[in-house]
Amino acid sequence: MRTSEIRTRWLEYFEQQGHEIRPSVSLVSPEPSILFTIAGMVPFIPYITGVEPAPWPRAASVQKCIRTNDIDNVGKTTRHGTFFQMNGNFSFGDYFKEGAIDYAWELLTTPQAQGGYGLDGDRLWMTIWEKDEVSFTHWTKTIGVDPERVQRLPFEEISWSTGQPGPAGACCEIHYDRGPQYGPDGGPIVDVAGDRFLEIWNLVFDEFVRGEGEGHDFELVGTLDKTAIDTGAGLERLAFIMQDKPNMYEIDEVFPVIAAAQEMSGKTYGLGAEGPSAGNAYEDDVRLRVVADHVRSALMLIGDGVRPGNDGRGYVLRRLVRRAVRSMRLLGVNEAAMPTLLTASKDAMKASYPELETNWKTISEVAYAEEDAFRRTLSAGTTILDTAVASAKETKGAPVISGASAFSLHDTYGFPIDLTLEMAAEQGVAVDEEGFRTLMAEQKERARADARAKKTGHTDVRVFRDIEKEMGGGSTFLGYTEQAAEATVQ
Ligand code: ATP
Ligand code: MG
Ligand code: MG
Ligand code: MG
Repeated sequence: MRTSEIRTRWLEYFEQQGHEIRPSVSLVSPEPSILFTIAGMVPFIPYITGVEPAPWPRAASVQKCIRTNDIDNVGKTTRHGTFFQMNGNFSFGDYFKEGAIDYAWELLTTPQAQGGYGLDGDRLWMTIWEKDEVSFTHWTKTIGVDPERVQRLPFEEISWSTGQPGPAGACCEIHYDRGPQYGPDGGPIVDVAGDRFLEIWNLVFDEFVRGEGEGHDFELVGTLDKTAIDTGAGLERLAFIMQDKPNMYEIDEVFPVIAAAQEMSGKTYGLGAEGPSAGNAYEDDVRLRVVADHVRSALMLIGDGVRPGNDGRGYVLRRLVRRAVRSMRLLGVNEAAMPTLLTASKDAMKASYPELETNWKTISEVAYAEEDAFRRTLSAGTTILDTAVASAKETKGAPVISGASAFSLHDTYGFPIDLTLEMAAEQGVAVDEEGFRTLMAEQKERARADARAKKTGHTDVRVFRDIEKEMGGGSTFLGYTEQAAEATVQ
């Protein structure tokens, strides 16, 4: 089943169950405390927190999401994209746990010929809060799932809140057993990497009021007058199961970019399927998956009006384009890659997002210009970097690029420090980052003293710090994302 069809079925199913079907909001978050829309519930936050009355008792959507905190997982796990789509159904004081469980089970297990997804119910495992007897009883008695497949976790491993005083609760996560070839038995609580037991759907049961605490380990100080259901199921994860692929990068909406990159580079994708032990073949596979992910995220971000820049969202976009271009270089492609790759991604996504075709001229111009600018930076800086690497290797002891060289790369060639670090590391050379930072601080001091120096237009390293903050989830709203980062079961 094509991804666009899985998406349509979701919306049709929940419409039949009386849900108001809501369009995806922009990737630029409508919630001001976060840069991007990170989950399906983001546009519904006021209704869940009770700040505003919900206009409908129940709603459903397929929401475009960006999660920068997953960037290092991309291509290495089977299941993390920086861009992905979250299918969601929501209840604002309407149905609660039993209803949400019934819908999830019915949609997942109803045969495809009858409008469902046709998954084998015997492959579904649940993780629930150890004190959630309502869920346990409903799964095991009413639905009839083998109690061994409903695993219990302590609150701090399955809790949810916004990170602020307000609604909180425990989740029930539904996992799909991909089979013994992907890992040992024991269910999701032992498969921490999630290679075999893939988390597909998270049901959040908001019923408590959050009190004091750190992260996911917080006090409950009361119960909500109005409970809420907030669920999220990864569309790409459903697709990779239903399309019988080994990971989300090989589904119909993503793989065409891998195919195009393969052709451009002359590399064969899949030779590293056995994992890191396959060495270079694995590295190449990861790069191809990174390219496919980042190109798609850039496409969708530009489509939602984000433009490359030196801070905030613009910097995230810039970094995604640059990583894609760098990965292509490491695959041996030196010519401009975006025209081929972005077109492949647009063609794969337009069934679900026809506006990509309508806005194609602008989207492609923005992406191509960013690639061109980066290629100019790269060709100027790479020679200098290689010289610095060579001389670092000539000195005794562990090779280190001096802070002064890193500074000159940054100052004269516009080479950001993160790129210097990354490219040096690829050649087994470290960088004296502290020395670099000292020189940067000195430069800033001089610039302050000399008003004219402020106008020289040097890249401001602060943006890289901002991005570190952003990528580490520096926002005040914790949402789903933080929980996942810290929970044992992921
Ligand atoms: P994981 O533990 O696999 O990182 P999560 O617990 O962080 O997932 P949730 O925050 O519960 O994910 O989001 C709800 C659903 O959205 C997940 O069950 C999954 O199907 C999907 N999802 C989350 N993050 C991603 C991602 N980076 N790429 C693709 N799908 C995702
Ligand atoms: Mg989850
Ligand atoms: Mg996660
Ligand atoms: Mg998780």
